[in-house]
Formats: sequence, structure tokens, C-alpha cells
Amino acid sequence: MEVIFDYSVSGKSGYRLPQDPFPNMSFPELEAAGILRKELPRLPEVSEMDVVRHYTHLSTLNYGVDTGYYPLGSCTMKYNPKINEDVAAMPGFSGIHPLHVQEDSQGILSVLYELEKRLCQIFGFAAFTLQPAAGAQGEYTGLLIMKAYHRDQGNLHKDIILVPDSSHGTNPASVTCVGWQTVTVKSNAQGTVDLEDLRSKLSDRVAGIMLTNPNTLGVFETDILEIARLVHEIDGLVYWDGANGNAVMGYMKPAEYGFDICHLNLHKTFSTPHGGGGPGAGPVGVIEKLIPYLPAPRVVFNEGVFSLDQAYPLSVGRLHSFFGNVGILVRAYVYICTLGAEGLKEASENAVLLANYMKLRLSEHFDIATQGLCKHEFVISLKREKKEHGIKAIDVAKRLMDFGFHPPTIYFPLNIPEALMIETPETETLETIESFIEALIAIKTECIEHPEILHEAPHHKIIGRLDEVKAAKEPCLRYVLTPFL
Ligand SMILES: *Cc1c(COP(=O)(O)O)cnc(C)c1O
Repeated sequence: MEVIFDYSVSGKSGYRLPQDPFPNMSFPELEAAGILRKELPRLPEVSEMDVVRHYTHLSTLNYGVDTGYYPLGSCTMKYNPKINEDVAAMPGFSGIHPLHVQEDSQGILSVLYELEKRLCQIFGFAAFTLQPAAGAQGEYTGLLIMKAYHRDQGNLHKDIILVPDSSHGTNPASVTCVGWQTVTVKSNAQGTVDLEDLRSKLSDRVAGIMLTNPNTLGVFETDILEIARLVHEIDGLVYWDGANGNAVMGYMKPAEYGFDICHLNLHKTFSTPHGGGGPGAGPVGVIEKLIPYLPAPRVVFNEGVFSLDQAYPLSVGRLHSFFGNVGILVRAYVYICTLGAEGLKEASENAVLLANYMKLRLSEHFDIATQGLCKHEFVISLKREKKEHGIKAIDVAKRLMDFGFHPPTIYFPLNIPEALMIETPETETLETIESFIEALIAIKTECIEHPEILHEAPHHKIIGRLDEVKAAKEPCLRYVLTPFL
């Protein structure tokens, strides 16, 4: 398998230009207008079929949830039901202009209104903004809300956010973005927040805590009530990073556990194609007392009419143009309506069941970072394989590609050495999951008997082991290295 990028043969052509594209202009006029080229552009000279086949072939090299198993921990790669795509593509949604008058936009406004209500029902918060375009932007929004709230309380000295060492990197990054400082809280042997360490870091300067629950090790923070009590006691707010909401939806309403603010990742928990920087949606939910600070405008419903309410003088402002990534919001709404309350619960159950099955099977061959039941994901540490056989997480990840699987997340969370973080889509069949487990077990055997195979993997892909730093710093994206004229 090789991809040829240069099919160009001098004299070939796949187009025909009109005889005279400017019939009403004379040659001197064209020259005077400065639109005549002095030399021909250097474009590939190819036939139409060459172009069609080249791009169609490239498209088949893509790997996605629709083509293969995708156990990417922390990212929740869901099967994206095709009905979501059909509904999002309906002309009433895809063709509507955001500046349409409100009387003509009742359909989409009602979807946004209903989606907000559903999210409130599922997670227990009083209101949501749908504006943020990703989880990270949701975190930023949530922290702006925290900041505005503390300012109004006269808590101007508060400038610290507590973040566990297992947290996603976006948490401390968002804290820095709002001009506050991160103080890291240690995890204990169970992988949850170490309460003693947390107590030692509480002070009047603490504005709040950001907590992912279940956390990035896939473990439920069972001390959440106590953590929330401790943080509230010093007048801090408790933020739920809801990126792992797919493990608890239908079972846990975070607002009832003391969380004051949250973000969701609709592109993870409620299905939408993502990855590669595609569009997402990171709605932010708040409890009653924080509603005035939400981004405006907000969709409201009065006397049978949906409209946009701008009257939020304490609002932190706009976080996105118009209404956010509306196409993603429509997909999430369809997903929620299709599954219903029971279906969402079942999706959480399957995510947790499959993760525990895989964890149990793999624990006979690998060291798992945490003991006991996990939620929707778990982490393998290859510390021992590295010490005994010189095999690193990246070697196993690359070798999995030879077996036809997308690798799991590696080197995250940061507090686990040589981490492989596995999260299975809840819709996978037992056969697929078994074949992935078998591949990992086969790789473990290779690790002991033929470690060199792993060092050089992947062997059966278009591109072998890349120097990833060089590929990122010196990308070669053109079909010829010399610049076009
Ligand atoms: C994915 C993720 C984020 C960030 O969300 P994006 O939508 O990628 O910006 C934050 N926290 C956790 C735990 C995540 O898994």
C-alpha cells in the first residue's frame, strides 16, 4: 500500500475552460486591470479520473468510529447514529441564517430551549448556556462565572483553584486563562482525591475546586459530599468537569452532590463526530444563584413565543457568535430524544459494564492503575514492561495499529507512568471487544519474546513510525516541495 501524490503528467488535463472568459474586455483592458498572468501556474496536470480516485482512495485510509474500534480513553468516541446527521442536515436547521428574524426561527429556538431543559433534567442544574464550543471553552466560561460571583460577594482575594493531579490538562490551562493560580491536590492509592492533602491546601484564597467525576482514572470520587462540604465551608465553589458524564448519566445528578457549576462535552457524552479538532459543544450548567452570570443572550419562552433575552446585566458576556455550534446541539438533542431517559441510563450501564469486563480480562496480563470496580474507563500502566523489556506505552499503541485498532490514549493521566487509557464505546459487540483484548494479549507476548517488533511498529501501515516532533514542526503538506508560482 503506497499513496502516490504526484500523478502529474505534462499535457494531461481534467478541465476545459471557456473560450473567452471575458468576452466584453479587450486584451489591453485586461492588461490594464492587472488580471493577466505572466506565467502559467504550476498546477498538477491530471485527468478527472486521477483526481476522483486519488481523493476517494485517501478517504478510505481514514480511521474513524465508523470504520473501526476506537478505545480512546477520556475522549468517549461514540458511535454517531445516522439519524443525528439526517436531522442536523434538514434545511430548516442547516439552511437557517443566525440573523433570521425571531418569528422565522421558532423551530431552532425551540430545539435550543428544549435541549437546555433536558440537560437540566439529566444533570440537576437550574440552567445551562449552550454557547461554549468545546469542553475547554466551557471550563473557561465556568471559571469566568466563578470569578464574577466572587467579585459580587466581595471575595476579591480569592485567586486559587484546586485541581487534582489526575485532572485533564485543560483544567489548569483554563485557570491560567482567567488569571488565577492552580494548586494541585494529590491522589491517594485508590486514585481519588487525597482528603488530607485537600484539607492542607484549603485557605481563604481558594476560589473553588475543579473535579472530574468519575475521574480520569475511571474511578468515582466517593468522597464528593465531604469534598463539596469542605470547599463550601471556605466559601469556594465546586466545579464538575462533566467530560465523563457518559458513565453516570441517568444515575447521578451532580448538582445534588454539591456541584455548583459544570461543563458537558456534548461531542463526547451525547454523540457527535469529533477528533481532529472538529466542532464540539461544551454547555455550562449552574445552580440557581449563578444564573445571572451566564453568557447572554439566552433563549426564553413567553406567551407561546421563543425569543432571545439580552437582559442579563451581570452576564459574563458572549462566548461564541450567535448560538454556539448549533449543528452539534441539534445532534445532541436528537440523541437524547432517541434514547430517552431509559436509553441514556442503559448507555451508561453498558459503558461501565464493558469497561469492567475488559479491565478484569486484561488484569491477568497487565498492571491496572486502580483496584476495584471502574466506571467507563481504566488505565493500564506499562511501568513494569518498560523496566523488564524496554517496551513503552507508545510501542504498544503503535503495534495495536498493525492489528487494525486505533490505539488508546497514552501518557495520560500524567500521574500514571507509561499509561494506556482505555475507554470502549458502549455500543461495541462482545466479539469486537474480545478481538481487541486478544490483540493486547498477543502484544504482551511479543513484548517478552520479540520486543524489537514493537519498537519498529507499525509495520503494516502506509506510514511507519514517525518522528512526531519533526512531523509537527516541519509538516510537508504540498505535493511538490518548491512553492507554486
Ligand atoms: C475532553 C476533556 C476535556 C476538554 O474538552 P474538549 O471538548 O476537548 O475541549 C476536559 N476534561 C476532560 C476530563 C476531558 O476528557
